[in-house]
Amino acid sequence: MALHSSEFQEFERLAIAPLYARPRVTHGMPSEVIPEDGMDPPVAYSMIHDELMLDGNSRQNLATFVTTYMDDEARLLFAETADKNMIDKDEYPQTAAIEGRCVRMIAQLWNTPEGENATGTSTTGSSEAVMLGGLALKWRWRERRRTAGLSSDRPNLVMGINVQVVWEKFCRYWDVEPRYAPIEEGRLQLNAEEAVKLCDENTIGVVAILGSTFDGSYEPVEEIATALDELAASGGPDVPIHVDAASGGFVAPFLDPDLRWDFRVPRVRSINSSGHKYGLVFPGVGWVVWRTPEDLPEDLVFHVNYLGGDMPTFALNFSRPGAQVIAQYYNLIRLGREGYRQIQQAARDTALFLSGEVARTGPYELMSDGSQLPVFLFRLKPEVTNYTVYDVSAKMRERGWQLPAYSLPEHLSDVSGLRVVVRNGLSRDMAELFLADLARSTDFLESLETRMPHDPSHTESFRH
Ligand SMILES: *Cc1c(COP(=O)(O)O)cnc(C)c1O
Repeated sequence: MALHSSEFQEFERLAIAPLYARPRVTHGMPSEVIPEDGMDPPVAYSMIHDELMLDGNSRQNLATFVTTYMDDEARLLFAETADKNMIDKDEYPQTAAIEGRCVRMIAQLWNTPEGENATGTSTTGSSEAVMLGGLALKWRWRERRRTAGLSSDRPNLVMGINVQVVWEKFCRYWDVEPRYAPIEEGRLQLNAEEAVKLCDENTIGVVAILGSTFDGSYEPVEEIATALDELAASGGPDVPIHVDAASGGFVAPFLDPDLRWDFRVPRVRSINSSGHKYGLVFPGVGWVVWRTPEDLPEDLVFHVNYLGGDMPTFALNFSRPGAQVIAQYYNLIRLGREGYRQIQQAARDTALFLSGEVARTGPYELMSDGSQLPVFLFRLKPEVTNYTVYDVSAKMRERGWQLPAYSLPEHLSDVSGLRVVVRNGLSRDMAELFLADLARSTDFLESLETRMPHDPSHTESFRH
């Protein structure tokens, strides 16, 4: 139907109206019900784009472990493959093949004894990977108990109280008793002695973290394994280890190649890592690898028909994105081992530089220095009473820095600290700007005569 000329003029007037003068723009955005009529794509785009500016700048987010910088070419591939569903292995056989290549490369990075036949899968992140690793431990333990004619109704899992919240979730969702080892001043992580103390015949596994989310320290995997070897040799239970290498799985192999935390330690039966942390991919992708095919019980694996062949899958999700897996492969081949090593070394150097400067700033003391994960935790000296770490965090926010303050877990919950996560993209120059802002914020707070009122909205959880 032809438009009348007056209708046409109105249509044209609206279409060429300056973006920020259009009716939609001057009337706010729908937020409760789906609007009856739609809007122009540029209007919808700009409104959403602009609102998101208030989220802050992800590159200044020192709270997250998750990747906030990727090469333009990686971003391009990411956008090009946003429509690929990882589960459609039949329809996207090359995406499936690339996933397989990533599993083999990562398994070999972690010294799998299976070479190119490693058993593993991509996931949406370490959380899903942890669920799969934990389930395999639980199934294997139950199998052993049943074979021996023993009861299998009270499984437990041993870990440090400093574990990431996903392990608490695993235990609740899958009906496993969590057994948390305490931490103490000067040791914010699990050690061999505490781990062994909590193990019994119902222990499905010990979780060791590489490294801890709240101070960046590596837990002593090999020491824990040796202590568990001794426990088994003395007639005690034979307890497997799962390493939660969410962050360290892409740091230690490049920077600490002699550290034995991976499949070189026979007791390590499975490992997870987040491709979207130091794997250097935007969220969300994770990886989990088992030591041998026997470590992944067959009845957890579903078999789907794939190009006339058999495609085993083990996942909680059905549909999930393929783009992240493609970007992971891009990084692995674009950077190579040497590229990853350079990036992680630069992050560690920056973390050590920052922690050194922070330690020199009067009121602060370090609780870790960034020499393992490029992550460090610091707090105010006890003599500082007129302001808190929460005030420092809020003050830094004025310049866009997201520097989280939080209290430590149980046993040290009266201690609060500030944590800095250094990631690819935090250049030395940005680090110096951060330090200048920290010095200015600290001077301001130091100059206050009376105590700042504490704003609880700035309190953040340590369990990122
Ligand atoms: C981040 C993290 C997790 C959760 O991983 P996601 O990839 O965010 O799901 C689990 N464990 C540790 C040690 C972590 O650092």
